[in-house]
Amino acid sequence: MKIAVIGTGYVGLVAGACFADTGNTVYCVDKDLAKIDALKKGIIPIFEPGLETLVKRGYAEGRLLFTSSTTEAVAEAEIIFMAVGTPPLPNGEPDLTYLKAAAEEVARAMTGYRLIVNKSTVPIGSHRIVADWMAPYTKHAFDVVSNPEFLKEGTAVDDFLKPDRVVIGTESEKCFERMAELYSPFVRQGNPIIRMDPVSAEITKYACNAFLATRISFMNELSVLCEKVNGDIEQVRKGMTTDVRIGKHFLYAGVGYGGSCFPKDVQALMATGRRNDIPLGIISAAEEANARQKRRLSAKVRAHYGSQGLANKTFALWGLAFKPNTDDMREAPSLTVIKELTEEGARIRAFDPVATDNARKMVDEIKSASGKVQYCDSVYDTLEGADALLIVTEWNEFRHPDFEKIKGLLRTPLIFDGRNLFQPDQMRDRGFKYYGIGRNPA
Ligand code: NAD
Repeated sequence: MKIAVIGTGYVGLVAGACFADTGNTVYCVDKDLAKIDALKKGIIPIFEPGLETLVKRGYAEGRLLFTSSTTEAVAEAEIIFMAVGTPPLPNGEPDLTYLKAAAEEVARAMTGYRLIVNKSTVPIGSHRIVADWMAPYTKHAFDVVSNPEFLKEGTAVDDFLKPDRVVIGTESEKCFERMAELYSPFVRQGNPIIRMDPVSAEITKYACNAFLATRISFMNELSVLCEKVNGDIEQVRKGMTTDVRIGKHFLYAGVGYGGSCFPKDVQALMATGRRNDIPLGIISAAEEANARQKRRLSAKVRAHYGSQGLANKTFALWGLAFKPNTDDMREAPSLTVIKELTEEGARIRAFDPVATDNARKMVDEIKSASGKVQYCDSVYDTLEGADALLIVTEWNEFRHPDFEKIKGLLRTPLIFDGRNLFQPDQMRDRGFKYYGIGRNPA
């Protein structure tokens, strides 16, 4: 099949590379010329495990093409995926400017019937809205189907190649069959391709992200209670997750969820609720709990130093990305931690294996952080002259550090662990003052 993917970001590039890998010809389109030029030179603009190999193979074999011309791609392709960003507006509604522009460009470029696929996460009813945007610009027939994406950054290639399920929202048998054929190589082990009406497909995407965000916020709220009553959230988690009805995923207490999806999709669903006069109290509570949670690590630091304040303190920060194995900094909890600590005069020495470049741009927008954040080349560099270590992202390489070296480099053996990487009693035995989340300090 010949496919065009409009928007070559985290979703579009992964989808394009994976479709090319199963023998399709894929035109990845982006209006960002620098991104397209880089891709043509074999430079992958994002960090995503396994992606580089797939992109280079597809490009070398001529199945994966990069262009900034929607016209060129749409003239060739029969199926057009819309994978542009839908970032949140200040009122929580998704900004559909990019989607509208892309829809109009696609419509203008059509040279015959096209199957349009909404892959971006879009508000309920968008399949109709996209069709309405396109109609004035083309005389050709087209269908719009909803095909929400469930990949997770950090494991995006694996998720795309082996999805738990594929959701196709369409009333048309013909469109469903075409989409099912395209996805068939990825579900050979029997995972379902679920057909549903487009509205339900659009809701399914928001429902999944809001539900997962709620699970995280549920554990984060319980972690506050654990601290108050001398419980241990990690032991509670183990007790809960052995119940098959609950399952074991997305139940880790930490510094709150971030990323480009959970915060934005939770807000979008809340906005949809407001617009339809439907109270979505559970989801609002999850969002409020998350906003509180993002401030908890810095609150622990503040509480530890009390009246001393933070003005002359320097903190080592391990992890900037919103989660491990990605360079995505959108809504990363580290930004809240940096803002809160620098507002009180503290200095930061930060390290992240891949997200530093992206972090720099976003930290530069935090007024209080100006001149107070230094980026280091290794975990140990951050510790030199630092008063304490803060762990914000659970990168694997942080799990077994040289604790003696940490003690030697830090001014005081003090760790605030926002990801519960270590055991409090072991940390006490190693000679550290250790604060986790939802656990008794050691
Ligand atoms: P992104 O910001 O990484 O990429 C979007 C790309 O679209 C950018 O490169 C931008 O330059 C390009 N673009 C914008 N307008 C364009 C146009 N008119 N023509 C061509 N290119 C254009 O975004 P993303 O993270 O890949 O997300 C895309 C969509 O997928 C969003 O709706 C998001 O909610 C959804 N989604 C994201 C994830 C994720 O983990 N990132 C997972 C599932 C769903």
